Formats: sequence, C-alpha cells, structure tokens
Amino acid sequence: MEALKERILKDGTVKPGGVLKVDSFLNHQMDISFINEIGKEFKRRFADNHITKILTIEASGIGIACIAAQYFGVDVVFAKKAKSINLDGEMYCTKIESFTHKKVYDVILAKRFLSPEDHVLIIDDFLANGCALLGLIDIVQKSGATIEGAGIVIEKGFQDGGQKVRDLGIHLESLAIVDSMSDDSLTFR
Ligand code: 5GP
Repeated sequence: MEALKERILKDGTVKPGGVLKVDSFLNHQMDISFINEIGKEFKRRFADNHITKILTIEASGIGIACIAAQYFGVDVVFAKKAKSINLDGEMYCTKIESFTHKKVYDVILAKRFLSPEDHVLIIDDFLANGCALLGLIDIVQKSGATIEGAGIVIEKGFQDGGQKVRDLGIHLESLAIVDSMSDDSLTFR
C-alpha cells in the first residue's frame, strides 16, 4: 500500500532494538481517515473470503480491527492479556511474548465468542517475530474455527514472523513490509 509506505517514511522513527515508532498516526494517536483507508485495503485483499469475525489482541490492534470490521460487516473480538488465569474451562488460553516489552503474557479469549462455525480474519498492527500472531492462530485452532487469513499493517520483513506464518499455509497480507531500517534509512520490499 503505497500511501502507507509514504506515511511511514514521513512520520515513522526508528528506535534502538529494531522498533519502528508510528505512534503519531497508527498506535498511539490514530489518524482515523488514514486507518479507514487501511480498513478498505484489508477488505479489498480479503474480498473473496467468507469472514464472520475479526480477531485481534489488545491494545493496538483493537482500533484498527474495529475500523476494518465495518467493511466486512462483522464483529470484532480481542484477546486480552490476563493478570491471572481462571482455569474454569470458559476461556481459551495461550502465551505470547511481547516483542516491545520483552515479557511473556497469558492471553485469554472467552470461548463463547469464537465457535467452530466462525471464519476468522486476524488483524494486528505489527508482525515481527510472530509471537502475537502465532498466539492468536493457536486460539483460533483451539476453538475449531477456520482461519481465513491474517492482515497486518506493518510487517518487519527482517524478522522471521512472516515466514513462520506463511509456512503454516496461512493467507497473510501485510500492507507494508519493511526490509531494513536504521536511524537514517528505511527500505520496503
Ligand atoms: P511479534 O509478536 O510478531 O514479535 O510482535 C508483534 C507485536 O509487537 C505487535 O502486536 C506490536 O504491538 C509489537 N511490535 C513489534 N514490533 C514493533 C515495532 O517495531 N514497533 C511497534 N510500535 N510495535 C511493535
């Protein structure tokens, strides 16, 4: 998505540790008309898929997923980072290591919000090592629902998350794939 690449070049900043900050338009302050175009683009790329639910993870994925969901006409459900796990059988649970916070979270989703009849599109802001996305895939697989695909706003192509997910045979669409980045240059695939 050319407009996204231009926006990253204009407003993105590279932080130590391979972190790209896009918090002026995507995941802190949110440029809603721009994210609306992102939502439309996800719909265009998954136009042939029958999708009944969008799944994301708190916090940054939620706003993006909600805007995209309006183009699919479906509900959004988001996985929550749990402080304590209540193993009462009502929740799907998985573990996710946060790339930005270097912490392992237990992540939960109430079973009643995902069923074997669902066809799920997973949406998130970034794909780096793939922990977040693989955790969400694990939850969908536990539910017996069908994974229609995953839509990512920014994939960091120099980390191996994208490869891992494509190797699973999952239809992955990343709207911008960053191939390399340093303080003064950023290239796209
Ligand atoms: P992964 O689990 O694929 O390693 O990382 C994905 C998650 O980490 C995303 O949900 C996103 O919140 C966060 N993340 C990973 N890399 C970056 C980055 O370069 N910039 C920002 N802002 N978030 C990132």
